[in-house]
Amino acid sequence: EPVDLPRMLDSVMQRLEQVAKKGEVTIVCDPHPSMVVGVPRLLDELAYNLASNAIRYNLPGGKVTLACGMDEAKRPYIQVIDTGIGIAPEEQDKVFERFYRVDKSRSKARGGTGLGLAIVKHAASFHGANIDLASELGQGTCITVTFPVQVWPDMGEGASPVVLDATTA
Ligand code: ATP
Ligand code: MG
Repeated sequence: EPVDLPRMLDSVMQRLEQVAKKGEVTIVCDPHPSMVVGVPRLLDELAYNLASNAIRYNLPGGKVTLACGMDEAKRPYIQVIDTGIGIAPEEQDKVFERFYRVDKSRSKARGGTGLGLAIVKHAASFHGANIDLASELGQGTCITVTFPVQVWPDMGEGASPVVLDATTA
């Protein structure tokens, strides 16, 4: 099913605006046209978990940017950038493990179970997407999920979409 990424990010942002207000975090959307053929609920959870982390691990007066679009190679991407506490280099691989949380006591105060990024990793691999994490302690974090090039049937002018079916192909 085609999922419109700008529309999905807008929906995520609306659901998170209340949360962000409490922590005085500004959410900005930077949507560019992009679509992924996939499972809407999984893609939504992927974006929602990244965005809620970006808010939860931010600093007062911080900023969260939700972006999507197509890269130079025409691959769709979702990118979440925050100006928060950051993740130390030695923790950057571990945070994708189930139940792993950096600094248990600090994380505890911010709630959560440590499953968010494991869900992100699962949803990304289900769609054949790649996850890139760039982060600096005290500066912030940028996570980019890049999907494979999407192949659309060449429908021509005014044609209706062709559904390829294994039984008729
Ligand atoms: P849950 O998402 O299940 O509510 P959680 O946020 O603790 O709980 P994950 O989303 O899997 O779990 O994140 C794992 C850990 O990685 C977090 O506890 C936090 O220490 C760290 N982390 C995740 N995202 C960020 C971020 N944007 N900035 C700084 N640290 C982060
Ligand atoms: Mg989380």
